[in-house]
Amino acid sequence: MASQNRELHVFLFPFMAHGHMIPVSDMAKLFAAQGVKTTIITNTLNAPTFSKAIRSRKTNSCGCGIEIEIKTIKFPSQEAGLPEGCENLDSLPTPELAGNFFKAMGLLQAPLEQLLLEDQPTCLVADMFFPWATDAAAKFGIPRLVFHGTSFFALAASDCVWRYEPFKNTSSDSEPFVIPNLPGLIRMTRAQVPDFIKDNIENDLSRLLKQSKEAEVRSYGIVVNSFYELEPVYADYYRKVLGKKAWHIGPLSLCNRDNEEKAYRGKEASIDEHECLKWLDSKKPNSVVYVCFGSVVKFNNSQLKDIALGLEASGLEFIWVVRKGKDDDDVGKEDWLPEGFEERMEGKGLIIRGWAPQVLILDHGAVGGFVTHCGWNSTLEGIAAGLPMVTWPVAAEQFYNEKLVTQVLKIGVAVGAQKWVRVVGDSVKKEAIEKAVTQMMVGEEAEEMRNRARVLAEQARRANEKGGSSHSDLNALIEELSSQS
Ligand code: UDP
Repeated sequence: MASQNRELHVFLFPFMAHGHMIPVSDMAKLFAAQGVKTTIITNTLNAPTFSKAIRSRKTNSCGCGIEIEIKTIKFPSQEAGLPEGCENLDSLPTPELAGNFFKAMGLLQAPLEQLLLEDQPTCLVADMFFPWATDAAAKFGIPRLVFHGTSFFALAASDCVWRYEPFKNTSSDSEPFVIPNLPGLIRMTRAQVPDFIKDNIENDLSRLLKQSKEAEVRSYGIVVNSFYELEPVYADYYRKVLGKKAWHIGPLSLCNRDNEEKAYRGKEASIDEHECLKWLDSKKPNSVVYVCFGSVVKFNNSQLKDIALGLEASGLEFIWVVRKGKDDDDVGKEDWLPEGFEERMEGKGLIIRGWAPQVLILDHGAVGGFVTHCGWNSTLEGIAAGLPMVTWPVAAEQFYNEKLVTQVLKIGVAVGAQKWVRVVGDSVKKEAIEKAVTQMMVGEEAEEMRNRARVLAEQARRANEKGGSSHSDLNALIEELSSQS
């Protein structure tokens, strides 16, 4: 396989946010392991994220050298009205600057086209946040594939909500509706629908998403970080009803096999990986709750306090990742923790301030459940680790992912977040947190969820093996692209 695909050269162009960059560095490893020449295009500040992620990959499964190149383009901070150095979504000083960030994405067409001209790749896989990439690829006569970074379920569900506007027929924000035309009688509420859809708001983001939908229709197809066995009904729905070509090639995180690869994803961890593993090694199997809300969500101090109190009241052991690190203004001020909390939790609870080696932790046998904001990478990493979840969606398409976990897969308990809120999150009280975490970890229902999650993890593993659904789809994609090049 390695030598057959030498002619194929894939350009990968991820959106500048960790939730999009992490799966793309895994995707690069997968393509390269199949002998495909792979180039990641990014800006200078984000380039080390990729070079570190791929540093441990020197050979593919056949022992051949693998080829992943990283090419950089200048990030137009100044032109987009962003402060210098603000080149990743998680470094926005205020959520209000998100519009400027998306404006910057629109300014990357010319530099990308310059690289397309110089390198003449045979395919462009570009993030959904670059709608103009379909036209850019067309100029050079190459196929453009879209990467959304989410599930088939979320793609199908959000399309139905956008198309049929079921929230218009409800009398209140909290009255549930069934998503029309979507298989499975999936329920959600108006409050959980993104504001730019339910309130028909015209802003930079809503315009961009509209353009993205139009560009997707004209694109060659999509690549999805999922596996067929996880959501067959929705994978079929996307392909047959929405009529687009799609290749499922996930869970992408499973391409990281050793501890070094699992520990470095996106950023250097704020805890020594050996220290973290030692802590986990001292715990009983399935006893630890892992709590993390991804790379963007930031809760306020009162919410953090409720999380602390909820965890303490559950009596369970935990690892809790809090996005407060050395770069935060309030560093040193620990007023988000209840008094004496860390002393009381000594040996029982580990707080990681900053960035955790998430996949390494999730894959450890001591971890028994995952409290997640339902970002798709985290959700799928939890599934790949065979874990039941407490779902706590905040923004983006996270409420759809919650419905997949709780209503379709039945491997999760909803904490009760009611409202789609940009970045900061709906407030959830400590009693609800204690209740959901206990429900996930203790008792018959917990055991049933864990058993179902384990079956999915095994299916995920098999999907990535030779002959498995994701492995076969990746090869089918490579063959199709090769036949065109
Ligand atoms: N992640 C991590 N350590 C952290 C927080 C996040 O490794 O402390 C990784 C996580 O494993 C996942 C990604 O960052 O791969 C977050 O993506 P996701 O789609 O879950 O959420 P987002 O950050 O886009 O909201």
